[in-house]
Amino acid sequence: MHERVLEALKSAGALKTGHFLLASGRHSNQYVEKFDLLRQPTETVIACGGFAEQFRDAGIDVVAGPTTGGIILAFETARQLGVNAAYAERATDGASGREFRRGTTFAPGSRVLVVDDILTTGGSVRETLAALEKHDVEVVAVGVLVDRSGGKTTFPGVPLFSLVQLDIETWEAADCPLCAAGDPVVKPGTTTTISL
Ligand SMILES: [Zn+2]
Repeated sequence: MHERVLEALKSAGALKTGHFLLASGRHSNQYVEKFDLLRQPTETVIACGGFAEQFRDAGIDVVAGPTTGGIILAFETARQLGVNAAYAERATDGASGREFRRGTTFAPGSRVLVVDDILTTGGSVRETLAALEKHDVEVVAVGVLVDRSGGKTTFPGVPLFSLVQLDIETWEAADCPLCAAGDPVVKPGTTTTISL
């Protein structure tokens, strides 16, 4: 199944190669553009099938995900599991973090699967877990489409399941071999697709 998910990412053109300035400020020669996948419903259905297959017998009541990519994955995974979805949005009152808005309720003791797209530092997942702590629910697991943290990002007490693991090398600008070669760095945008 995970091979199928990797194939879906590849056929969607979501795996890029080039010289990228990442959100962290570090440079890399690879980048995953999750929205190249999420714009393609057929490929996104395949990817969510990886979550549904893994958690089919886990007694999941609700699939929750953070905006923006996570809510698309939560919706489709919930559809495949035949349960409801919940969406962790940014807090509106200027506070940091996320919350379940628009009248979201959870039946007491609901078993929740949290899904998100790309795992790097895990900030959006941590905010979703914090938002769930305000409800009487049990978080069963966190599922991510791509773990590109190299196994460094974990969530205490909650099992992490990743459909695809990518070990993407990154460098500080001063140590970047692509910079040293005079290759101009770009924010992720127009690039070519890599084959893994
Ligand atoms: Zn560089």
